[in-house]
Amino acid sequence: MAGLSPDGGGPTAAVAARPAADVAGAAGRTAPAAPTTPAVAALVGQVYRPVTSLGPGRRLGIWFQGCTLACPGCMSRHTWESTGGRELTVERFSALWRAALADGLDGLTVSGGEPLEQPAALAALLAAADAERRRAGHPADLLVYTGWEPEELAADPATAAALDGADAVITGRYRAGQPTRLAWRGSANQQLTTRTALGRERYAPYLDHRPERPELQVRVSEGEVRVIGVPRPGDLGRIERDLVRRGVTLRETSWRP
Ligand code: SF4
Repeated sequence: MAGLSPDGGGPTAAVAARPAADVAGAAGRTAPAAPTTPAVAALVGQVYRPVTSLGPGRRLGIWFQGCTLACPGCMSRHTWESTGGRELTVERFSALWRAALADGLDGLTVSGGEPLEQPAALAALLAAADAERRRAGHPADLLVYTGWEPEELAADPATAAALDGADAVITGRYRAGQPTRLAWRGSANQQLTTRTALGRERYAPYLDHRPERPELQVRVSEGEVRVIGVPRPGDLGRIERDLVRRGVTLRETSWRP
């Protein structure tokens, strides 16, 4: 079962790290790319919309598959394996994002897993997202979660450049011993940084915002229960107990080793 990704919000699934149906639909479609489309595909674990719990407004969410950072207490252990997930081509992503823009969604959230472990794919998706929003004339913002610390980004500018297309980033490992009420962050060390005028406009009101309760989305799909958002300590246990009371048997959870 998948779990919460404190660095990125992430899903909580009840059974296994099976890709969600919408990802399955996106996967494996390796139609030849147009000449101007980078031939890059991201390995992703989930694609979902609308995401309303990881960034402002209604958003398209993309979860990269694969993370070697192994934060103690990570609740999205199902995203660690780089052998799971499905390929999402830039072409397919662009189609999903175009549809999201046409439906008036407010932004894109890229989480994981660790997006910077696929820097070329991340950069390509962000570039495609920017091109599509310009074409649509719709100022939807691009938010990326990474477990990399600011000093790690500074020490590896070539990899960090993959974030250049983001309007805002949330950086830093999940540290279970540093709980926080800050919006969209899993631990107090994680920093929300704006990078563009649009990012500043969208995220300035939330830099120090501490909602009374975090928004969590519960999604049931293909035998899995996924929680999207950033739960606070105890939230997942409460959800699990509630599911059991309703007769749902959880065979695995992604937040336990
Ligand atoms: S960066 Fe840390 S919290 Fe995020 S998926 Fe990787 S191990 Fe989990």
